[in-house]
Amino acid sequence: MNAFFPAVFFLFGLLFGSFLNVCIYRLPQELSVVSPRSFCPGCKVPIAAYDNIPVLSWIILRGKCRNCGARISPRYAVVELLTGVLFLLSYFAAGSIAEAAKLCVLSSLLIGLIFTDAETKLLPDLLTKPGILLGLLSSLMVSVEGPAHFFLRSIQDWRILSLLNSLAGAILGSGFILGIALLYEAVRGVEGMGRGDVKLMALIGAFLGVKQTLLVLLLGSLFGSCFGVLMILRIWRKRFARRRRKLPSEPPGQASRRAWQSASLAYRSFQIPFGVFLGTAALVSAFWGTALVSWYLKLYW
Ligand SMILES: [Zn+2]
Repeated sequence: MNAFFPAVFFLFGLLFGSFLNVCIYRLPQELSVVSPRSFCPGCKVPIAAYDNIPVLSWIILRGKCRNCGARISPRYAVVELLTGVLFLLSYFAAGSIAEAAKLCVLSSLLIGLIFTDAETKLLPDLLTKPGILLGLLSSLMVSVEGPAHFFLRSIQDWRILSLLNSLAGAILGSGFILGIALLYEAVRGVEGMGRGDVKLMALIGAFLGVKQTLLVLLLGSLFGSCFGVLMILRIWRKRFARRRRKLPSEPPGQASRRAWQSASLAYRSFQIPFGVFLGTAALVSAFWGTALVSWYLKLYW
């Protein structure tokens, strides 16, 4: 097999991952992503080109700045490698160059948004808004399947059908999240999901269409719930151990119950980064959605 094109996609992904790292660091601070050149967040000294090689530089310098020795987050290497791998997957998963390009663009946007949300709890408009537009435009190059093919059979032009399907995905995804956010605010009186999540789901829906959007909402809430349970268990374990230490006479059952109450209370004030789960679900759906659904259906039919 010819390894040239896969290698090009992988290397291009590594380089693009490097640029995404700059976006993740600078966009939430509203700094320009073009200038100045990359610098160490510790000593502000510009990073030399030979110290800016994706993944390798981080390993060679053992995650430290060459000048001041400040720790450089492993996130830099992880984002670069992940982008490289997803570009490679895009090459193999796509049936055409246009489709591969679409998957690369979607992967880049999602990696940028997932890591920014994880670090800062922000989903910058500078990524989501152009992302929605790119998703809609990409439907004019790669056909998005969906309800328009069923309801609007008189339309012959595949591009119009595809664009309508992309639009339907965006409206369904963002509408669903907006509905949940408004409901949550009405019941709890505080903001649970930010408007950034609404825009993120519009982006995902525009790229993936209605069917995959439903899968993303399902997987996203599944990932989020698993994270929530693990999070409460972790806090519970710590609080339980502390109670046992401080109140040795308390019966273990009661200590466990009290620790659980206090853990779920602590969890409530924790701000869940929904964008991380929705974004991860979108990546899974984009690459394995079709396989996942047919595997699931085979279990029951
Ligand atoms: Zn430094």
